[in-house]
Amino acid sequence: MEKIITRQIRVGRVKIGGGAPVSIQSMTKTDTRDVSATVRQIKGLEKAGCGIVRVAIKDFEAASAIKAIKRKINLPLVADIHFDYRLALCAIENGADKIRLNPGNIYKENEIKEVVRLAKKKKISIRVGANSGSIRDRGQGARGKERSTVEGMVKSVMDYIKILERMDFYDIIVSLKASDVVSTIGAYKLFSKKSKYPLHLGITAAGPVSTGIVKSAIGIGSLLLDGIGDTIRVSLTGDPLEEVIAAKNILQALNLRNFGPEIISCPTCGRCQVDLQNIAEQISSRLKGQGRKEQIKIAIMGCEVNGPGEAKEADIGIACGKGSGVIFKKGKIVKRVKEKDIVKELLKEL
Ligand code: SF4
Repeated sequence: MEKIITRQIRVGRVKIGGGAPVSIQSMTKTDTRDVSATVRQIKGLEKAGCGIVRVAIKDFEAASAIKAIKRKINLPLVADIHFDYRLALCAIENGADKIRLNPGNIYKENEIKEVVRLAKKKKISIRVGANSGSIRDRGQGARGKERSTVEGMVKSVMDYIKILERMDFYDIIVSLKASDVVSTIGAYKLFSKKSKYPLHLGITAAGPVSTGIVKSAIGIGSLLLDGIGDTIRVSLTGDPLEEVIAAKNILQALNLRNFGPEIISCPTCGRCQVDLQNIAEQISSRLKGQGRKEQIKIAIMGCEVNGPGEAKEADIGIACGKGSGVIFKKGKIVKRVKEKDIVKELLKEL
């Protein structure tokens, strides 16, 4: 995969674009005005591997709460603004590291300019974040002319960017999210042909955890495979920790980032004669508990069909047989162990 190199911007201490590692974002689901609940959630997200966090700013109390939240967190904070540009001004004054503006509902040029002026003064970036559900055709004006096509989304964002560029503002990041995976991919691809601004990837309103992860993995994953995308957010109707875990899994599956040991385990079938699911789960949770970060592959295989081959190719692995298994390390047999000792012995060898 050949990465498309975009312009680099910063969100707090995190670099986005220009060849920087693809960063993970998530969004809190608390009421931002509730500082302690929001801080608690942000700390949990940071511990899980989130790099940038976004909070919803629905009123001035939420925008003002940014100051107290920022004092207690380490992650760069993005203020999500809709409808009222004055909320963006208030969020910037209170320390937001980036502002997300929606071209669909903050579109008056004089209002945009006020936000840009302050963002420039405070040296923070702006995400032009289009959603298919709120596209507005600036050329034609009226709300009734809203379009949600790929071209419409891209045009809406390009027109918006021109306003920012006319003010010599270039610390811009762009998102073009549709709830439909194919349209989202099309919009990002079209935009990346026209512009070098960094891209925030995501499938908006992707749905509950199980389907949302599939949609996000396809949408975000296929764009990343084409070298497109500088930061990602997996949107799920569920715990935001799941968003971060899914994002990490997407990046690790594409060898773009490493978040620790990778388990390769077979699905099991009628040939399997050990409780492989239990073995894989135990190894996985014990490794997480140890907080290991090495980039190693651990193969946990149910029988002799693919077991020895996979176990040999991994850094360490086990190929199971009837009530027992053979541990391989860097392709060489290390020992044969009974089923009850597999977890213990594998961890010992690790
Ligand atoms: S490795 Fe063996 S047990 Fe696992 S799925 Fe393949 S054939 Fe079945």
